[in-house]
Amino acid sequence: MAERIYFDWNATAPLRPEAQRASQDALALTGNPSSVHAEGRAARHVIEHAREEVASLVAARPADVFFTSSGTEANMLALSPAIETAGEKRPRDRLFLSAIEHSSVRAGGRFLRDVIEDIPVDADGRVNLAVLADAVARASRPLVSLMLANNETGVVQPVAEAAAIVHAAGGLLHVDAVQAAGRIPCDIGMLGADLLTLSAHKIGGSKGVGALVRGREDIHFPDPLIRGGGQERGMRAGTENVAGIAAFGAAAGAARRQLAGEAAHMLALRNRLEAGIYADSPKTVIFGAGAERLPNTTLFSLEGVKAQTAIIAFDLAGVAVSSGAACSSGKVQPSHVLAAMGVSPALARGAVRVSLGWTTTPDEAERFLGAWRMVASALSRSSRGQHGMAA
Ligand code: PLP
Repeated sequence: MAERIYFDWNATAPLRPEAQRASQDALALTGNPSSVHAEGRAARHVIEHAREEVASLVAARPADVFFTSSGTEANMLALSPAIETAGEKRPRDRLFLSAIEHSSVRAGGRFLRDVIEDIPVDADGRVNLAVLADAVARASRPLVSLMLANNETGVVQPVAEAAAIVHAAGGLLHVDAVQAAGRIPCDIGMLGADLLTLSAHKIGGSKGVGALVRGREDIHFPDPLIRGGGQERGMRAGTENVAGIAAFGAAAGAARRQLAGEAAHMLALRNRLEAGIYADSPKTVIFGAGAERLPNTTLFSLEGVKAQTAIIAFDLAGVAVSSGAACSSGKVQPSHVLAAMGVSPALARGAVRVSLGWTTTPDEAERFLGAWRMVASALSRSSRGQHGMAA
């Protein structure tokens, strides 16, 4: 039987070998990183080395990296009205979120619903900077959250331009870089991010580890989510996940060193896939195609083909892909990202997301195209049949 093809890297990536080794070595350590004896110091050393690697991935200072249990937790920690800076201790009065943020940002952290506002995106899924400028000008101490790249479309956001607008209005900018890190350059200073979220499992670390990174050292959270032993300099209590953090550090190091090569590799294969899909089904719509996108992601739809049916058909053909729609308790919700881009519900229902990674091969891309030919022709035939019956 042919090997399965994993094309769902935006959901999670496989563990990098470097990360697996680092995590196994760390699992063998006995000490608690907070203990002062040699065993404790050995565990502490692993964490601090990982902190340096994660900091390097986004060109931050190690002291500005705070490990969390996930990207979700880092987002939740960041979105606090209580954030203080050296010059501003009063609470942030408004939170602005782009309409295409991940659900962990859309939830609004610790802000009350009635002070949260959406910033729309254009048809290609890029945030509307003119609306952002008007919105932040109306607030006195705004916090803005804008992702660097969208998890469904891969569309890269104009973060540095947004940062200039937000800072001119006296605001702070949080950037969810979970999908962008390791795929495009992600320099916290060049982006102008005050806070930035990372997740280990998207870059080849293990699941259940993330980080919130500060772009300026005077940012302080008087209200950490988890209080207790004072770990992570008071930002996140609880004995650290040493093995998970070690794997995160190793993955971050590999991602940084190999970024240019991996990005070029993924882009060539993604372009091959899109060309093949278009050649075979010219009516396919690729979302965000007019914008800069991550090199590994394509989200497309063929009218009449339902994503859920396509995903099952792909799965049976040995290919793991996902839909642009979030499925919870068996009920398929239309994608809020595509809705914000003005895509019709009928087209959005067909959105299939294919996301590649550093181990994807040209042979897998060709086998995927073979599977797409079968799936697209079978499903468009059956949807034509269904329309016929309904009429
Ligand atoms: N932000 C984005 C853009 C994501 O795609 C995800 C995960 O899919 C998260 C945040 C959440 O990260 P985690 O899975 O580590 O909680």
